[in-house]
Amino acid sequence: MQIDRIASKVMDGGRVDAAEALALYRQAPTHLLGHLADTIRARKHPGRVVTYIIDRNVNYTNICVARCNFCAFYRVVGAPDRYVLGFDEIYRKIDETISLGGNQLLLQGGHNPDLPIQWYEDLFRGVKARYPEFKLHALSPPEVLHIARINQLSVPVVIERLIAAGLDSIPGGGAEILVDRVRKLLNCYSKATSDEWLDVMAQAHRAGLRTTATMMYGTVETDEERIEHMLRLRDVQDETGGFTAFITWSYQPDHTEHGGHEATGVDYLRTLALARIVLDNFDNLQASWVTQGGKVGQLSLAFGANDMGSVMIEENVVRAAGASYCMDEVEIVNNVIDAGFTPKRRNMHYELLGDPVFLEKDVPRMLSLATARADGDHSVPDELRNYPARSRAGKQLRAQ
Ligand code: SF4
Repeated sequence: MQIDRIASKVMDGGRVDAAEALALYRQAPTHLLGHLADTIRARKHPGRVVTYIIDRNVNYTNICVARCNFCAFYRVVGAPDRYVLGFDEIYRKIDETISLGGNQLLLQGGHNPDLPIQWYEDLFRGVKARYPEFKLHALSPPEVLHIARINQLSVPVVIERLIAAGLDSIPGGGAEILVDRVRKLLNCYSKATSDEWLDVMAQAHRAGLRTTATMMYGTVETDEERIEHMLRLRDVQDETGGFTAFITWSYQPDHTEHGGHEATGVDYLRTLALARIVLDNFDNLQASWVTQGGKVGQLSLAFGANDMGSVMIEENVVRAAGASYCMDEVEIVNNVIDAGFTPKRRNMHYELLGDPVFLEKDVPRMLSLATARADGDHSVPDELRNYPARSRAGKQLRAQ
């Protein structure tokens, strides 16, 4: 039987092609997919260690001109509830993160036409001057492209300038599905085509940065297109070796223009397991418990995941679309231990940093989950007036 032959090939360490991946995805029983993925996970990570990172997801602005139809987070230029975080507000969030044992910001935001590259450079330099050891995992490929376009710079120059200012690594956001048919239907083709997204990552890898890769599934794509996405990532990884990890999550439909339904937990576990099988050159796969919940997140550890991602301090983008799962370090650690693994803290490079912080020192259980900016506060940060705006609304705001 074809599935048995492909399963044997995977167990022997063979690489599956598109047709074999599709046959497994469509026909293999879920327990077999889990077994194959768990076997590969155990080969790559034999010590039964499951890692996680304490970092903070900060969304510096919700103003976005891209207007992806699956996104519930963005606001148009001039919208009454738009915001840009002030530098002082971001420094305060870093102070809180450090107090919880964190060492990194995951900094992402909308495509704001009124933030020139100097704003990012000044922010990054300000962070590094205050917190020299603190890491900036910042600006997904479409944001890098947006900065390149509005400043009329090439992508390599933008990356070089951001590294000089303090950028440490790039998150894999904005990939959705790396197939242009899908991107056109989701209105995210113009923010970055599949080739452009992959090219920013390859350029970042060549400049010495490590990055992650993601996949948001469950909108309009076919099974074949999910697999094409994985194969395109695998090709870049063969060439550069720059991806540290792969993270997949299901589309969150609430409050979006696209609407529809969320994929099921079984779909998630099968997709995760297939990714572990197809992405044979990726070391790390994260469990997406933020969208799937702690219990499916825990099950992910038997379906190929070896990492629990971030301890939740703040998250705004998927929360805007209805996902509201939340786990602090104690809960993540309990889930990992209960699944039969040993939890360890890590950094973005997956280097182990030690045992859970709460075992070593007294830390607050969890900060109240603040929204990116408190409701009703639409004040303009002082330093924003130092940067020229491009949009009419931005110019009027600066003049006030
Ligand atoms: S997903 Fe990102 S780029 Fe797309 S509309 Fe939302 S904030 Fe903008």
